[in-house]
Amino acid sequence: MRFKSLLLLVLPLTGCLNYDYGTAVPYHPKKTPHFAVRVPSNAPPIAQQFRPVEGEAGHMGLDVATTKGTPIIAAAPGVVTQSFSEPAYGERVIIEHGKDATGRRVQTLYFHLDRRMVAEGQSVARGQQIGTLGETGLLSSYPHLHFEYHRETAPGARVRLGRNWWQGIEQLDPNAYWVDGPGRVTCFTGQSAPVDKITYPVVCR
Ligand SMILES: [Zn+2]
Repeated sequence: MRFKSLLLLVLPLTGCLNYDYGTAVPYHPKKTPHFAVRVPSNAPPIAQQFRPVEGEAGHMGLDVATTKGTPIIAAAPGVVTQSFSEPAYGERVIIEHGKDATGRRVQTLYFHLDRRMVAEGQSVARGQQIGTLGETGLLSSYPHLHFEYHRETAPGARVRLGRNWWQGIEQLDPNAYWVDGPGRVTCFTGQSAPVDKITYPVVCR
């Protein structure tokens, strides 16, 4: 299984532009399962939902839209495995979180940052600032974070092929893995949680 989203022209503007805190756009009607998504009133909005690849219309993560410069924070503790700039997704960071209860490795990805504040090999705590929200890269046309959640298909299955390509990895809906439960967007408030459970990657008010 290849890392398909890098081949797709993801159109950030297919979701409504939405800057109202505490809101989330609906899922694409053909995407199942849908989670009933609840965004806390102090959290910036989800401007585009996860949508598995269907022809050219896949969107393999969440978009969180708010003003440029807002702190981007680690969704779980881990080690930074990528921190660099490239043309499509701009300033990007990937954090490896270790293994879930089934032994499968989990990582989260942060794209279109304005500024990166971590280096490859650096350990980060849950909630630690790793950069600022931006609109870098050709696939971004407004300030937002594109955020992805990846898990191995089986323990030890992942094979890295250079910087952009993996095998043995699934791109999953981040809404399934919030600390407070599926669909319950969880702001970081200093809590600790298993490494495969995530808190919101953009700072809440
Ligand atoms: Zn996106």
